Amino acid sequence: MRRLADVLEDWEAVIGLEVHTALTTLETKMFCGCRLSHDDEPNANVCPICLGMPGALPVPNEKAIESIVMAGLATNCEVMRRSMFYRKHYFYPDMAKNFQTTQGPVAFVMHGHLDLEVSGEGACERLSATVDKRPDGSYVAPIRILRIHMEEDAAKMNHLGGAEGRIGGASESLIDYNRCGTPLIELVTEPDLRTPEEARLFMEKLRQTFLALGISDCSMEKGSMRCDGNVSLRRRGDTHFGTKTELKNLNSYKSLHDALAYEICRQAEVLEEGGAVRQETRHWEPSRRRTVVMRVKETADDYRFFPDPDLAPFDLSDEFIERCRARMPELPDARRDRYMTTWGLRRLDAEKLVADPATASFFEAVAAQVEPSVMPTLVNVMVNLVPAFAALSEAQVASVSGLLAEDALTFAQAREVFELVDGTDADPVRVVDERGMRQSTDADALGAIVDEVLKRCESQAQQYHDGNKKVIGFLVGQCMRASKGSGNPKMFNQLLVRRLEA
Ligand code: ADP
Ligand code: ZN
Ligand code: MG
Repeated sequence: MRRLADVLEDWEAVIGLEVHTALTTLETKMFCGCRLSHDDEPNANVCPICLGMPGALPVPNEKAIESIVMAGLATNCEVMRRSMFYRKHYFYPDMAKNFQTTQGPVAFVMHGHLDLEVSGEGACERLSATVDKRPDGSYVAPIRILRIHMEEDAAKMNHLGGAEGRIGGASESLIDYNRCGTPLIELVTEPDLRTPEEARLFMEKLRQTFLALGISDCSMEKGSMRCDGNVSLRRRGDTHFGTKTELKNLNSYKSLHDALAYEICRQAEVLEEGGAVRQETRHWEPSRRRTVVMRVKETADDYRFFPDPDLAPFDLSDEFIERCRARMPELPDARRDRYMTTWGLRRLDAEKLVADPATASFFEAVAAQVEPSVMPTLVNVMVNLVPAFAALSEAQVASVSGLLAEDALTFAQAREVFELVDGTDADPVRVVDERGMRQSTDADALGAIVDEVLKRCESQAQQYHDGNKKVIGFLVGQCMRASKGSGNPKMFNQLLVRRLEA
């Protein structure tokens, strides 16, 4: 198969995503009062409603509707005042009532968009001229959102493998209904994405947005956020869409990107050999790095789709919508812009810090404790050091950033200090003093060491004069050794250059 970049020279990929997010932060299920927890004993959180016993009547969870309205407001959607629930029928033991309660043609929120900021690096894949590129190749791609609708999750099936899972040759499965009836929101994009990288960025941005809203833990590993990718190809310049395939089991950013990239190359091969893409659902196998056919597309008729007679249509009031609006937190884009204007952060750094609301709040708390002159160092520390540690306190990060900013520590030493204090309430200043780690910036003391080293290393000094400027690294190393690591390497470097150039 050809490489993705080559394929995209000839073909344009058309991608639409369907993203399911479980509203894990709610206390109860979508239509009953059962506790929303997947970690309890199997089948501990069930009742006649979520087990679908005849005669049990569903009662919608108002908090779940608040969550979906907030998700809609955060993605520039229109809140649909009147919508209702439908039944989507199917037979499988993960839903005892044999239908999933979901929404019909009108969803709670519809017709929004999310603007993707694509850097020059990710942009090289998008070759169509449908967006305005900046000189560095980066661009903003507006991705339209068709709808976000509410539905319920099914039970978790545990398919037993091996001998104990088989009775007379048939396989056996265990069913845990704790997850059944968990409120899910499904977001469907228009087919506006053009590359696997854009799809990955979209998913990242959506996850950041939902995390900021606090409506889900958004864990792709645990399956509380999962995504199907729809993809088709068309010749560059064509205006009609080609036939799409739908990819399931994309449970990480990497799977999403790699599965789409594989599928684009596979479809190109089929089309270039004169074949036709079949509309089908395919499954991504990460270990074998390929997609395989799961099933050929079913149609809506197979689901016997109709309005649920047990659930009255909704009429969302102005007051309800305004209450949701009032609860909206600052979203990642606004937060990023605030960091750039308040503290002069670079766009990329600001974006990294706002990606996770917990990190952003932590950063802001530390920022409130440090001098303005320490801010650039703090940002560097937050982006490059802090993510490697589990339990640093705000005070510890503030203190180490301060020491770094005044050149009392090198970056490597700062990492060492974090290793020593992580998860404790130790004061970094004490640790640095106790271990004699504080870097000397005393120009006289360091100057004496530099003189001594230059006397010893005449041949290296000569190399420097002959144009081999890199030898300075060796000389700094000698100075560091002579000072037993207590000298500041930046100062050594400056002093060496000053003397050598004199
Ligand atoms: P289906 O009826 O097969 O479920 P939908 O029209 O509901 O298809 O669209 C499902 C998803 O597929 C949406 O995200 C949409 O943007 C995307 N999609 C629709 N048509 C195409 C196409 N030709 N190529 C790629 N994606 C598409
Ligand atoms: Zn229940
Ligand atoms: Mg669909």
